[in-house]
Amino acid sequence: MTIKDNLQQINNTIPSSVTLIAVTKTQPVERLQELYETGHRSFGENKVQEMLDKHSILPNDIEWHLIGHLQSNKVKFIAPFVKLIHSVDSLKLLQEINKQAEKNNRIIDCLLQVHIANEETKFGFEPSEIELFLDSPEIPPLTHVNIRGLMGMATNTANEVQINEEFALLAALFHSIQSTIKNTEFNILSMGMSSDYLLAIQNGSTMIRVGSSIFGKRR
Ligand SMILES: *Cc1c(COP(=O)(O)O)cnc(C)c1O
Repeated sequence: MTIKDNLQQINNTIPSSVTLIAVTKTQPVERLQELYETGHRSFGENKVQEMLDKHSILPNDIEWHLIGHLQSNKVKFIAPFVKLIHSVDSLKLLQEINKQAEKNNRIIDCLLQVHIANEETKFGFEPSEIELFLDSPEIPPLTHVNIRGLMGMATNTANEVQINEEFALLAALFHSIQSTIKNTEFNILSMGMSSDYLLAIQNGSTMIRVGSSIFGKRR
């Protein structure tokens, strides 16, 4: 199966309202070029340096999504071009994104990462923290970031009941915020990867991040 076949197969199984981010981390640029030639433009990377290297080589109409943990001191490198940062997990990071966005005369779209997995290692806010965070007086002054929604990763398990519960929890939080928040552009729910994107979509995901189902297993 080629990248094009895999992409087509995924696109055939998801609603057109769901945005597919192709996760290109660890893939060589030749494979990203192959993906680009299918017409796909939404690419996801989890490391700043790798995104920078690939961004400098590949065509500039690619939309780059940062999906991995982001350190504040690296924001300045991606601020000129990044399309959406999925992994905002602190006020300090959001403030730095705002500062660098302003320097670049941009408003940068962001998602708040929420810790829904039953695993210690994953980053993100606790679900119970999110609504307080959004209501905090520190947020309105940040005029160069646009908080577009939430991102989460389910536990890496074969237990679909558990995965379903975690996605349902994030979706409920997302919809609860949507019903009260003033920002009408708070409309992105980024959840679902290769192993669980169909479950995520059943639970209301609007954006899925898929790597191995497009490129094959990473080494
Ligand atoms: C690697 C990664 C993905 C994609 O994982 P696959 O299982 O290859 O689809 C999605 N989201 C994040 C945050 C990732 O780091």
